[in-house]
Amino acid sequence: MTTNAKRTCHCCRKAKSLESFPPLQPGGLLHPYCRPCLTIRVRRNGRARDQAASAATKECALCAQRLPLDTFHWIKSSQTHHSYCRGCHSVYMAERYRRRRRQAVAKA
Ligand SMILES: [Zn+2]
Ligand SMILES: [Zn+2]
Repeated sequence: MTTNAKRTCHCCRKAKSLESFPPLQPGGLLHPYCRPCLTIRVRRNGRARDQAASAATKECALCAQRLPLDTFHWIKSSQTHHSYCRGCHSVYMAERYRRRRRQAVAKA
């Protein structure tokens, strides 16, 4: 199977083949960051954790990375941060939107 589909990494902003992005879920959702960027980030996060264990960070429920709190959307109504980081959240919302649209079309 060959595919020319490309995807732009949210981190390095380079267009890369889909194989360069690790899947978030078995359903085919891909991570917004390419593998090299993820490796660098995870390594960097590991170091940051040693330096400031109590820093305001949160672990993303989707990509399992520990990221600064401002990487997460603030949910005013529940006074808490979203459990997905912005990158994962946008991917998740786009996927949800597509799924809903498909369901709406099926019902009509
Ligand atoms: Zn990248
Ligand atoms: Zn994430």
